[in-house]
Amino acid sequence: MPVSEAWQQRLTDARTDRQQAHRWRTRQVVKSNTLDFAGNDYLGLAQDPRVCEAQAEGARRYGAGAGASHLVSGHLEVHDALEDALAQWTGRERALLFSTGYMANLGVLQSLADRHTAIFQDRLNHASLIDGATLSGARLRRYHHRNSNDLARLLERSERQHKLVVSDGVFSMDGDVAEIATLAHVSQRHNAWLMIDDAHGVGVLGENGSGCAGGVTSQDVPILVGTLGKALGTAGAFVAGDAELIDHLIQFSRSYVYTTAQPPAIAAATLKALEIVQGEPEHRAQLNANIAYFRRAALPLGLPLSDSATPIQPLLLDSETRVMTWAARLAQQSIYVGAIRPPTVPNGEARLRITLSAKHSHSDIDRLLEGLNSCQREEAACHVTA
Ligand SMILES: *Cc1c(COP(=O)(O)O)cnc(C)c1O
Repeated sequence: MPVSEAWQQRLTDARTDRQQAHRWRTRQVVKSNTLDFAGNDYLGLAQDPRVCEAQAEGARRYGAGAGASHLVSGHLEVHDALEDALAQWTGRERALLFSTGYMANLGVLQSLADRHTAIFQDRLNHASLIDGATLSGARLRRYHHRNSNDLARLLERSERQHKLVVSDGVFSMDGDVAEIATLAHVSQRHNAWLMIDDAHGVGVLGENGSGCAGGVTSQDVPILVGTLGKALGTAGAFVAGDAELIDHLIQFSRSYVYTTAQPPAIAAATLKALEIVQGEPEHRAQLNANIAYFRRAALPLGLPLSDSATPIQPLLLDSETRVMTWAARLAQQSIYVGAIRPPTVPNGEARLRITLSAKHSHSDIDRLLEGLNSCQREEAACHVTA
């Protein structure tokens, strides 16, 4: 078989497999008049005119791009100022900017772990954490979701000298929160370091919005990852920790060293977003009020709510067909929710991933609930006629 035919066959096989599993994914161009219950812009900062203006002003002052990597000539004063602000916010000595959360996780794990290391991860951790562990060559063990006994059991059995425990802070598809204090305790008892990826917690949880590990010392959580593309409304990520950790990352994280620095205008916008998060707690209060409103109103409808107190409110519909049908029906009403299927979640756990924002009004949430209720009624009607 000629080379190109072999490749064509490979792509066709992959496509056929996925299509037969009804898991072929498509993108939709999102129009501006839709009601978005799928995104991660929890505080509405991506649309905040002050953040947008800071970005425009940042571009005028520093240019449209950084022009080089941080270690060459791309590290500008605005990046430095943002790192200082992030370190202070999270109560850490230093912080280091990465271009995305995916790259931050790859860079941390690849630079800290090697084949002599054992990495222990919650089963529901984000894909970037799993990929980072694979890239590092470390031995990867996965413990049952939020189960510190299972974690302790695996740690006990490990003879590796360096052990690293890794968990999402807020779990991205379930909305539940890791028990940081317990994880810290178990990790310390087994001489392991703890890394928390709080992509969905920063900006949302904690007294000053610094997430589920921001108020915890670097003794308990030595490695804290946060992303800027969710509640902060911009793009990029950071790692916060002691100076020695940050120096190590600057030297050895390949996804930090070998990439162009974040556009300085994004850093300028993020500084403004951070100022708003710290100075205007009312947005977090509004978000929490919206979460409570949604849950209170959803309860009498008998929707399969999960036990989540965060803006991530999954509806476990189990069947992938149901998830796709409900999402399509909502989309017809210009309401967007996440239709999440394996392999993003385990088999049999397909769900609608509903996310709430401080910017939703009660009538927006009413419209969503009315839409969800109509999906239920439609299903019931089908069962009667069938
Ligand atoms: C979104 C997400 C990431 C990736 O962050 P990006 O900046 O979008 O690349 C990493 N970890 C978790 C838990 C996430 O939810």
